[in-house]
Amino acid sequence: MTDTVLDRLLRYVVIDTQSDPASSAQPSTEKQKDLGRVLVDELLALGLTDAHMDEHGNIYASLPANAGKDVPVICFCSHMDTAPDFTGTNVKPKLVKNYQGGDIRLTGDTSRIIKVSEHPELKHQIGHDIVTTDGTTLLGADDKAGIAEIMTAAATLIANPDIRHGTIRILFTTDEEIGRGADKVDIQKLGAAFGYTLDGSTIGEIDNETFSADGVDIEITGVAQHPGTSKGVMENAIKIASDIVARLPKDMAPETTDGRQGFIHPTDISGSMDKAHLKFIIRDFVNEGLTEKEALLRSIADDVMTAYPGSSMSFTVTEQYRNMKEVLDRHPEIMANLTEAVRRVGLEPVTNSIRGGTDGSRLSFMGLPCPNIYTGGHSYHSPLEWISVQDMQKSVETIVELVKVWEERA
Ligand SMILES: [Zn+2]
Repeated sequence: MTDTVLDRLLRYVVIDTQSDPASSAQPSTEKQKDLGRVLVDELLALGLTDAHMDEHGNIYASLPANAGKDVPVICFCSHMDTAPDFTGTNVKPKLVKNYQGGDIRLTGDTSRIIKVSEHPELKHQIGHDIVTTDGTTLLGADDKAGIAEIMTAAATLIANPDIRHGTIRILFTTDEEIGRGADKVDIQKLGAAFGYTLDGSTIGEIDNETFSADGVDIEITGVAQHPGTSKGVMENAIKIASDIVARLPKDMAPETTDGRQGFIHPTDISGSMDKAHLKFIIRDFVNEGLTEKEALLRSIADDVMTAYPGSSMSFTVTEQYRNMKEVLDRHPEIMANLTEAVRRVGLEPVTNSIRGGTDGSRLSFMGLPCPNIYTGGHSYHSPLEWISVQDMQKSVETIVELVKVWEERA
């Protein structure tokens, strides 16, 4: 067993850990435990004697403090599953050593090309070693790069006992990609004051914000009638549902928004003349934005319904997750110390907002404030996924510097 962050990544990505939204079990796929068992063995071999996997496939391990000071317990977290969007079976990672610029044509499916025009980040990678797939699978650097980086940072701290640090907890979750990564995490058992997920992208970029998210369900009951004798009587639920969709504001959709703008997005429509069902996701960075969008959707639906006096509608809002910034703002030192660590490894920190959720958004509201750190990975969930070995090393250094900053400032 070798020790570099690249060796670790290459060991982990060949283990298929795709999660499955159609399964209600946790983990949603038993194969996620295949990686879990490897990680427990490696953690034990490193000397983290409490390393174990629980019945949901989550991995817990601790690196004891070696500092005389009272340093808060920090958790580092990554997820073991890969996205259902693209196959993760039989991953064949390829290494482009000393990249000299230009497009990267993948060898297993030569129609797949990582083009500089579509991946401008490649311009910053001259001289780096780049890991890709062969084009037939995703790579799974999301989030096995995060795991490899946390493991390598732990090994670095063990090999360098002169680096002073508090207690460090390691957490590897299952089913993050299907939105359930935090569901079975035992925050009590974890016993950390706060955490950092290693699940970001470009080095230097750290995330302290996610969307706030709700779901809306609209159920419509129309007036069914034989189509031969329905003049002036029938109210077709399919048409009512379609009227609502047709009236959604065009400038408030995923395909027309970016940055800090939110949206109303229909995700499912089904129905018959008698009954129709619409599902939406509502996204915004602030709670008032969510409330406004829900009120707008409600007023559109109510207005459509006035043309169908015999029909009825139910409108149900369900909370999904909330912007973690609300929690992080109450503990400014968590971002301040991270920003300092990023500077110490020679990078300019850039704070970003994720147009989505992370394990961290759920964990933050479960009592574990948890911003997100870069892993160096790019083009997640696709066969064009790639990552630079040198960027991964920057992430490892960032973790090590971060635990030093917390010890110094304790
Ligand atoms: Zn991820």
